[in-house]
Amino acid sequence: MPNQMPINHPNHSKPHLILVPLMAQGHMIPMVDLAGLLAAAGAFVTFITTPVNAARIRPVIHRIERSGLPVQFVELCFPAVEAGLPAGCENIDLIPSPDLFKPFMESLSLLGPQLKLHLAASSAPPPDCIVFDSLNSWASTVAKELGVPHLMFYGPSCFYILCSLLLKKNQVLKTIADDFELFPVPGLPEPVEVMKAQVFRWMDRPGWEKISEEFYAAEESAQGIIMNTFEELESSGLEVYRREMGKTIWPVGPLSLYNKDVESQAVRGNASSVDTQLLVNWLESKEPKSVMFVSFGSLARNPFSQLVEIGRGLKSALSSLSSLSFIWVVKEVEKGGEAKKWMSEFEAEIEGRGMVIQGWAPQELILTHVAVGGFMTHCGWNSTLEALATGVVMATWPRFGDQFLNEKLVVDVLKVGVAVGAKIPTLFVNEMSEEAQVKGEKVRKAVVEVMDGGKEGEARRRRAGELKEKARTATEEGGSSSENLKDIIRFAKQKISACDEA
Ligand code: UDP
Repeated sequence: MPNQMPINHPNHSKPHLILVPLMAQGHMIPMVDLAGLLAAAGAFVTFITTPVNAARIRPVIHRIERSGLPVQFVELCFPAVEAGLPAGCENIDLIPSPDLFKPFMESLSLLGPQLKLHLAASSAPPPDCIVFDSLNSWASTVAKELGVPHLMFYGPSCFYILCSLLLKKNQVLKTIADDFELFPVPGLPEPVEVMKAQVFRWMDRPGWEKISEEFYAAEESAQGIIMNTFEELESSGLEVYRREMGKTIWPVGPLSLYNKDVESQAVRGNASSVDTQLLVNWLESKEPKSVMFVSFGSLARNPFSQLVEIGRGLKSALSSLSSLSFIWVVKEVEKGGEAKKWMSEFEAEIEGRGMVIQGWAPQELILTHVAVGGFMTHCGWNSTLEALATGVVMATWPRFGDQFLNEKLVVDVLKVGVAVGAKIPTLFVNEMSEEAQVKGEKVRKAVVEVMDGGKEGEARRRRAGELKEKARTATEEGGSSSENLKDIIRFAKQKISACDEA
């Protein structure tokens, strides 16, 4: 589809990029940032969403609209009911039971015909490039059908993507009988040992062959890959990955650093469940680097017994370290019940030194505050990278997916984190078996080690500070990520010229 932008269209001289995120907060948040960045770098951007997701990110949409950046948000109708999902189930965090995860992933391809209809009917210029989330292989099919260049956006770390590629290429997992035996990943630039149970990909399970084949075909056909990481963080891994893939890889992160003012840091994903000013005032009352931030992303949930253990661990950490305070984000109370009751008693006990945010926290705003010195995280890649970008040391508690490998990167390779000690992945994103749970004493120990930790603690903080500086430089004018963004725009423009000449 050559660029036939109407010459009277306000953005006719700009390359038009369509961004197609996966409907999950951990995928949409970085892609919204990417949309803003590409628009600021000279593109006209269409961001594909659905009604429920658009309603959630409405404040973000308004913020971008107010900024005057050429980004338009287009809502396609999510075919939840056709796919056997409850009406309105348009985001992974709304899937009510594990057996509906596969129907959800399969239903995504039903968006393809709608995207084509939208493009055919739209008064906006035709697309020059489709940037699709790695789990939206259907969008690469649309791009191929329309003859539009397409780039894959990979949300996770290069470390995770490379490990997965090397394990698959060398067929390593087939040779490992014990799920919890440590073995090396062959071909990694830094030697790292992993366990089968922790690196097994959900899409490689029996029954997922079609989704998996489509994923690899989309990766193969993409003309390039955009990643939310930065060159200076993962240089050796990126070098091997480029060699393996034989195509252009553009690290453009940390995308979170695009949000420079308090409003954009506070308004990401869902609306905040806490008054931002109250939160900032609370943080202002604390000493620099004295607050531990505890949060497990948008999907992971703790059963009640695990909540109690976390609470016990945090409370005894307060006794071990007199300078310590904490913010704990708790989503498990949303449904009420015993967790809600227990939480109100707990809050009374820790008043003054602990703040509990029930629901959605303005995470980036918190992490950028000088009072925050540690982050207990589930190691979702966005959270991990947000901590690295703000120089905050981590207590790592992975749950599923890429998170155990991100923990390896943080603890063993970058040496800016302490493992809480979780070994067993959760069954589904929010289902934690009893044996996977972690005792309060381990929580206490990890908090104290991260927030104090003697000489080793100091060395961890120094390394985290250095990475923060490197992240900032990468995203500034002339930095590696900033230059890669310009290169993506050049790529899309070249396609326009090629079409004009044809
Ligand atoms: N997030 C947030 N507030 C919350 C929970 C999550 O702002 O209460 C943001 C967080 O900053 C990150 C994203 O949601 O940008 C979560 O992505 P991540 O990859 O860390 O984990 P996932 O939610 O995908 O497991």
